[in-house]
Amino acid sequence: MFAGGRDLERAANGLASRLPDGLATFADLAYNYRWSWTPGGDEVFAAVSPHRWELCGRNPVRLLQEVSADALAIAAGDAQLVARAEEVLAAVRLDLARPPLPGPVTPECPVAFFCAEYAVHQSLPVYSGGLGALAGDLLKAASDRAVPLVGVGLMYRRGYFRQQIDLTGRQREYWIENDPERMPAALVTVDGGEPLTVRVPIYDAFVTAQVWRIDVGRVPLFLLDAERPENDRLTRWITSQLYVGDPYTRLAQYALLGLGGMRALEALGIEPGVVHLNEGHAGFVSLELAARELARGASLDDALAAARERTVFTTHTPVPAGNDRYPHEQVVDALGTYAAEIGIDPETISRLGRTHPEARDEPFGVTQFALRTSRARNGVSARHGEVAREMWQPLWPDRPPELVPIGYVTNGVHTATWLGAPMRALLDRHLGEGWIERVSDSDAWAAVDRIGDDELWAVRRQQRERLVELVRDRAPLDRLTRGEARDYVEAGMRSFDPDALTIGFARRLATYKRLDLLLHEPERALALINGDRPVQIVIAGKAHPRDEPGKQLIQRLLGLRGAPGVGSRIVFLHDYDLELASRLVQGCDVWLNVPRPPLEASGTSGMKSALNGGLQLSVLDGWWPEAYEAAGGWALSGEVDPDHAAQDARHSAELLRLLEQEVVPAFYSDAPPRPWLERVRHSLRTIGPRFSAQRMVDDYVEQMYGPDG
Ligand SMILES: *Cc1c(COP(=O)(O)O)cnc(C)c1O
Repeated sequence: MFAGGRDLERAANGLASRLPDGLATFADLAYNYRWSWTPGGDEVFAAVSPHRWELCGRNPVRLLQEVSADALAIAAGDAQLVARAEEVLAAVRLDLARPPLPGPVTPECPVAFFCAEYAVHQSLPVYSGGLGALAGDLLKAASDRAVPLVGVGLMYRRGYFRQQIDLTGRQREYWIENDPERMPAALVTVDGGEPLTVRVPIYDAFVTAQVWRIDVGRVPLFLLDAERPENDRLTRWITSQLYVGDPYTRLAQYALLGLGGMRALEALGIEPGVVHLNEGHAGFVSLELAARELARGASLDDALAAARERTVFTTHTPVPAGNDRYPHEQVVDALGTYAAEIGIDPETISRLGRTHPEARDEPFGVTQFALRTSRARNGVSARHGEVAREMWQPLWPDRPPELVPIGYVTNGVHTATWLGAPMRALLDRHLGEGWIERVSDSDAWAAVDRIGDDELWAVRRQQRERLVELVRDRAPLDRLTRGEARDYVEAGMRSFDPDALTIGFARRLATYKRLDLLLHEPERALALINGDRPVQIVIAGKAHPRDEPGKQLIQRLLGLRGAPGVGSRIVFLHDYDLELASRLVQGCDVWLNVPRPPLEASGTSGMKSALNGGLQLSVLDGWWPEAYEAAGGWALSGEVDPDHAAQDARHSAELLRLLEQEVVPAFYSDAPPRPWLERVRHSLRTIGPRFSAQRMVDDYVEQMYGPDG
């Protein structure tokens, strides 16, 4: 058992001691997120108090702390419920007791996976979007595959921002304080006494951090937290907000994550065989690895080479502005004391982070630094690998782009997490016992072809209907919150039809995602939604607080709300998060993705939709060129065109043509619509195995974690 396991046990026992006899099972379940992807897990907590379960954001620790004594007594007296909880716990324990996967990674020298954000569950809000969702899915799949792996990140006290829209369509941000003591987390202590802490010099302070442990199945996730009495207000702020706008604090976060994260592992007694940097944010890990070699008397070159031998790096960002850069002076400010402590010149650090090491006025880039200090590097789709080789070729000036040493491991999604319950039951019926353990095996999916039209259509309708219920509840609420006119609020209550073609567009609202492609020819778009074969569109997404053009996208979209039919056929839902994402990908018939190529690295929400029988209408960018041929969806061309206006006009016309002439006729062809369902089966069977997180984790083990990575 890794360090901190006893602390989690103590936390579970403490919670159990405050519950009526018989409910200890619930407390044990609460402290490992494995319940969240074990069949029946969510249901047993919900059964304690459905209303409180939602109010607590499905946080089982809070549920058990906050629910009334009456509800607890009723649950304790419900022998059936207690037996169901015991069954779920038995399944979780069986899973935890499996031996580790034999292979290049051993429990003595596990993979240490570093990431700035993790989307494990809605009740642990330390994520913002795609990167976190991917990291959360990877931890779960590593647990399923029994790969020895630990996660390292930061415990943000306020997480990422929550979104509200005002009457002018303007996005407002607000934050909610996270209380780790009300999460399924335990502060790691030294033998049950004082919290374990590490210290790192950052700027002119020594930052002290404590460490929380959260269990994600077999994988422990360690989150560093600067909320310590030794730290002043400014220093405590380092772990306050995810992707904080101010560059001073942001660089301090990266230093704490990389340097502090590595020191924490050492204090926990964990010696990683491989360090996997998921994005460059944690890149300073290499300095700490090199520092150990320096302390043993190695030369600087040998120390850096030894650090490189243990580090692998995944880049996710083909948008140049998305790769953080800092002026050399700021790096010296932040890391000068640290550099002196380990005995290197801060200029050495800056050189490693510059595309052209000699160019002293070039800023320090975290991605360049991570590329230079890792032994293996990858993008997150075949196309993104190509784009990354081209983009970072100047770091290998003597090589042509095709020989730049950056490969790819295409992203995948955690099947058990993203499948809607009706779809899961359908696949359980048809694919046979244990299929979910063999989810990356194409043969396991062959039986999809034998699912009958009526049955498949009924399940699709059920999932769509659940989404329609959510829209009818959330749309009027969001409109009331904005202070909208009465009839527009009422239109929200009557919005959406469980039998109408439902299109989803939900993602970060950065301009390159081109939400406005829908607004290019408003007349044609309105005719589409108001036709006798109607189309309804649900949209959600957040713009980064400092992304002014992104915010204007939302404003322009909401500018359309007075047009006929829009009030009940187009809905923008506030505050896109994990829970909303999951409801949308389960319910939508078509998942729309229209980024400006080649700026989409992967685009995992489409994979989640496909698993649920949604069809993809996407630009050939990110993962889609790998899947499209086989997958039964639709594609817009993916060529790069420097004339953005011309490209937008072409893509908008092509998008409308596809919707009018192919998508709508196929959906409304028949009851049930055979050509549509043909596509759905095809898409499920081909995308299900290939874009699963299980396949992704297997690829990382084989291609990156082993000695040849
Ligand atoms: C899956 C997911 C994403 C990533 O999806 P994209 O297709 O890259 O936009 C972002 N946010 C949330 C909440 C998700 O669940």
